[in-house]
Formats: sequence, C-alpha cells, structure tokens
Amino acid sequence: MIEKIEGNYPKAEMGIKRLYLHGVKLHCKCPKCKNLVIHNMSEDSLYYPDMNKPIEIYFYCQKCENEWNEKIILKVGVETLLEEDPEIQKLVKEAFFK
Ligand SMILES: [Zn+2]
Repeated sequence: MIEKIEGNYPKAEMGIKRLYLHGVKLHCKCPKCKNLVIHNMSEDSLYYPDMNKPIEIYFYCQKCENEWNEKIILKVGVETLLEEDPEIQKLVKEAFFK
C-alpha cells in the first residue's frame, strides 16, 4: 500500500500535439454583451498543452464579435486508488478485467 505520494502535481511534459477533452465545455459570458459563449473542448483541441500551468483559452462572441481570453489549468497528478471510491473501482474494473 502506498502511504505517501511526494510531488504529486509536478511540472509535466506530455508532448501531446492535440489534446481533446471529451465532454468538457467552458461556459463563459461575453464581457461586453453578456451573451453566453460555450467553448467545447471535445471539438477545439489544445495544442501541446502545458500541465499544471495556466493556459489561455480563446473566446469569440458571435453576437458582438468580441474576442477575449480566459485562463484554465490542466492538472496532471498522481493519486492512489481508493478502494472505497465506487467511481474509481468501476474504472479499474473496466481497465483490467475485460
Ligand atoms: Zn458579446
């Protein structure tokens, strides 16, 4: 059993040219006209994204043609598998016991 993880959110290099995050959508109101703009991360990929560092996301409002950036962070870390967590248990079963 792992008792401790040291440095579990490190500077990470993944070398991924295009990262698609399926099911992730960023809902943001246009700062100018308050129109809701949705950035769909399963369609707009991130290009060689940095991990555990702020990343700028480009937004464009079709209503008033405003452009702006918002910051997000991709966290890549190491965690132990908690046996009591049913979500994690499901993922482990799917991965190893097909
Ligand atoms: Zn707008």
